[in-house]
Amino acid sequence: MGYVQEVYDQVVARDPHEPEFHQAVKEVLESLEPVFERHPEFQKAGILERLVEPERQIFFRVPWVDDEGKIQVNRGMRIQFNSAIGPYKGGLRFHPSTYSGIVKFLGFEQIFKNSLTGLPIGGGKGGSDFDPKGKSDGEVMRFCQSFMNELYHHIGANIDVPAGDIGVGGREIGYLYGQYKKLTRNYDGVLTGKGLTYGGSLGRKEATGYGLVYFVDEMIKARGKTIKDSTVVISGSGNVAIYALEKINQLGGKVVAVSDSSGYIYDPNGIDICTLKQVKEVKRGRVKDCLSCQPEGEFGTGSIWKIKCDIALPCATQNELNEEDARSLIANGCFAVGEGANMPCTPEAAKLLIANNVMFAPGKACNAGGVATSALEMSQNSMRFPWTFEEVDARLRTIMKNIYIQSSEAAAEYGQKDNLIIGANISGFLKVVDAMMSQGIV
Ligand code: NDP
Repeated sequence: MGYVQEVYDQVVARDPHEPEFHQAVKEVLESLEPVFERHPEFQKAGILERLVEPERQIFFRVPWVDDEGKIQVNRGMRIQFNSAIGPYKGGLRFHPSTYSGIVKFLGFEQIFKNSLTGLPIGGGKGGSDFDPKGKSDGEVMRFCQSFMNELYHHIGANIDVPAGDIGVGGREIGYLYGQYKKLTRNYDGVLTGKGLTYGGSLGRKEATGYGLVYFVDEMIKARGKTIKDSTVVISGSGNVAIYALEKINQLGGKVVAVSDSSGYIYDPNGIDICTLKQVKEVKRGRVKDCLSCQPEGEFGTGSIWKIKCDIALPCATQNELNEEDARSLIANGCFAVGEGANMPCTPEAAKLLIANNVMFAPGKACNAGGVATSALEMSQNSMRFPWTFEEVDARLRTIMKNIYIQSSEAAAEYGQKDNLIIGANISGFLKVVDAMMSQGIV
């Protein structure tokens, strides 16, 4: 049995109840096989065994009182996965499905994504099974304060710097930061995605969605296609989806469908961004509410991937685009897929798309713009000097272009031209492994 398979089997045996984590590990480890053939010293140093085991996992009780005076208890977690190249960095997810297997898959992917940005940030992730949907602002605040009452022991501007993810946006980061400051009396850059009046960076809110489109633009330009005049379908209607849509519009494409967990809206004339922002960012409503301003729009509950498009951008959640969806996209002439969400395509779907010559941008590479801009927020906090939107956006664009170049060059070097999954995994891994080899067995 090969080294990679052996380590994978150990991962499954050690935590058999974490299928999402197994899926993420398998995808990365399979890509790395040729690297281990060239570098037997990595195996001798136990690199993979160390890479798949988080440096630290923290699980904690989060008690809070709801509006009826009833005591609620959620589970909080923070997985500090790998600090070889910098302080742990990665978001917090508040969603009822959150458990160790999901946080570990996200934290593991974050190691390579953060490395790809070229910035000094390690990998981590956290969250809770708390569901902010339908909760009052007061309930969300009390939950966030209780969550931070424990988390603050484990984070710091040079230790671990969390940010947002599903269910954690500007409101939640504000409450978390307020409580951190109250507990520590420290005004430092310990969270990113902060509001602009208290240390946030211009361009952070837009960064993941814009960065995704910048990456896809580079990828398709290399094969003679453009976003201009392309028809695009985006799943989700949260932070990543909204700003991907905005950038597609700016580059002359047309987004005809978006979704949330209740279903999708489709309008051949395009989705109106102002209405979408109002419904989702201000009213916290459902995607169907947009139809009052989309006279030709319709609501559907089946798979959004049956809608004909040139470019598909899954921006909601893991494993939301399966093999059957991939077949529909191929049959409808889709030429590119960009993973705005983390691991939204099942491994079978990704393989099928690539085998059918659909250009495929893996999340680790193409959604790295959010964390990259979070690292820019950390720089601004350290300098105590904010940059303009244009400055941040220009840096983001350069970072996304570099990630594309690095990933495609690594793919070509290892004999897998245009396979950006393999290229991104190898390229992200090589920097981390170099740091781990230098730092000894820790
Ligand atoms: P948001 O909470 O802002 O939005 C999530 C969107 O996806 C909502 O429309 C939500 O619908 C939908 N969604 C979430 N879970 C499900 C589900 N199980 N089934 C169907 N729809 C679902 O999150 P973000 O936009 O921040 O994150 C989206 C994805 O992008 C995640 O995979 C995240 O890890 C990834 N990502 C985010 C980054 C960031 O900077 N925010 C950075 C890199 C990756 P509903 O409201 O109905 O639940």
